[in-house]
Amino acid sequence: MKKMKCRICQKDATEGDFCSLHAEAYANIVKKYEVWRKALKICWKEYLSEIAQHSLTGKWAKETARYLLNDEEKQDVKQN
Ligand SMILES: [Zn+2]
Repeated sequence: MKKMKCRICQKDATEGDFCSLHAEAYANIVKKYEVWRKALKICWKEYLSEIAQHSLTGKWAKETARYLLNDEEKQDVKQN
């Protein structure tokens, strides 16, 4: 079986596309979005930008948010 690499840091991936640290950060980002969406009525991309820029957010969450934002932008290009 081919070893997957984390799509963010290129370390060996343990879960799907991410290493354990980025997979955990991703799970937290998705989980917190439910709360943010209800409280602030922001969309997924706005939420990701917030995380990517926020100084209080951890390094792993920031990297994951930046990666996801990039991914979103690629999808936008494809749709247009
Ligand atoms: Zn990683």
